[in-house]
Amino acid sequence: MRKRTLPIDESNCQATRSVDEDDYVVVSFEHQHQLRRHLADHGPNTTPTSVSSAASGDEDEEPRYLAEISRIVDKLNQEFWPVNKKIHDNPEQGFQEYIAHEALTNFMESRAGWKVTRSAYGMDTAWVAVYDSGKVGPVISYNAEMDCLPGIGQACGHNLIASASVVGAVATAEIMKKHSLPGKIVLFGTPAEEGGGGKIKLLDAGAYSDYKCDVNLITHPGAVDDSALMRTTAYSGFKVEYFGREAHAAANPWLGINALDALITAYNSFSMLRQQCMAGDIIQGRITDGGIAPNIIHAYAAGHFVARAPTQARLLELKKKVDACFEAGALATGAKLKMTPLMNYKDHVPNQVMAKSYTRYFNRLNPPHLINPARDLLQGTTQASTDQGDVSYAMPSLSVGFSIDPGPTKQGPHNPEFAKAAGTKDAFDRACRAGKGLAGVALDLLCVEGMLDEVKKSWKESLTKY
Ligand SMILES: [Zn+2]
Repeated sequence: MRKRTLPIDESNCQATRSVDEDDYVVVSFEHQHQLRRHLADHGPNTTPTSVSSAASGDEDEEPRYLAEISRIVDKLNQEFWPVNKKIHDNPEQGFQEYIAHEALTNFMESRAGWKVTRSAYGMDTAWVAVYDSGKVGPVISYNAEMDCLPGIGQACGHNLIASASVVGAVATAEIMKKHSLPGKIVLFGTPAEEGGGGKIKLLDAGAYSDYKCDVNLITHPGAVDDSALMRTTAYSGFKVEYFGREAHAAANPWLGINALDALITAYNSFSMLRQQCMAGDIIQGRITDGGIAPNIIHAYAAGHFVARAPTQARLLELKKKVDACFEAGALATGAKLKMTPLMNYKDHVPNQVMAKSYTRYFNRLNPPHLINPARDLLQGTTQASTDQGDVSYAMPSLSVGFSIDPGPTKQGPHNPEFAKAAGTKDAFDRACRAGKGLAGVALDLLCVEGMLDEVKKSWKESLTKY
């Protein structure tokens, strides 16, 4: 069984955190300012991580390619802004990201040395762009998300995720070319993060193994502090149906089997289960079908339910208890139960070695938005879920969080205000800054001897630790 290690000072910090109605942890701006004051007083690296510094260079030394990355990304910033704007202003839901697919593949085809495959792996809107140095070396992959939320546009800021990955990947390739560095960069256009699991489809189709990807890099915007150790929850969404038998509800109800009663029994058991849930377990649901008329015994009832937990291992334990609630409904009423999985996302396993490399670059960029390594895991922990979690079980994954100004009510993703916030030039500039950090990690992996091995070792340890 995999155990979760809590961040050192999590208990002290609960008071400064609040959780919004759905699924995103919000850390107050006041908290951010306190952290900045702390960092101004004590410096960004007051508590070093346990990771050997050999992997990503001397703490005090300026990272080798920092200035070069900055210069290239600052130029890309102007070239890519219209593409970012197009994806933001034309929001498309999962697997329908045609405008984004066109804009992004056009852009990548315009870059020298990149080979682009449109509509890859059986998905119209998935794509792959590859830069191959021609020399054997590490294969660094990036993921670019594109899809929006129904009705509220780019309220999860996926246009910014695409931007950070594109500028990061292109900058890495340009520096590889200039300095004749060995290795390969693979940039995936990943559809349908919001419930469609596009990355899981790419994993299942062998996309990442086809290119022998060693690691994967991605970012996510939020109303949270910048972080290099994003930790998301494991998620299981499923449909529940009960099949009973109609009968006259007044004249001879004893001849019927009440499917709605089965569902209500299950719903009540499910709700009571919350009392025995562990911290971090989340269960939610809604009833979608509750019968057709009060004078007919309900032959059909259905609902959509969700369970989340901090780790995949805990989710499997929780899911057994949840399933028992639904079985109880069937047992009590005689209705037949059918449960259909809709989508499962694994938790995101952070990688300390790549996080350290990212922080070393990111904390030197202007204007300063410092990551505090001592609190990084806390800042990066959220109750939200993503298919990047599945990627993190398949290979070492770096998923960093970057802050944007979320607007007047300071809410995080999944509300219309955040969609507006994700369209500003300032948010785009911050995405580009995160992209610089990703390029730094990629170049460290290509150049620093032993780092890739250390990343893989840390990943294997983390898979059993979290
Ligand atoms: Zn989202």
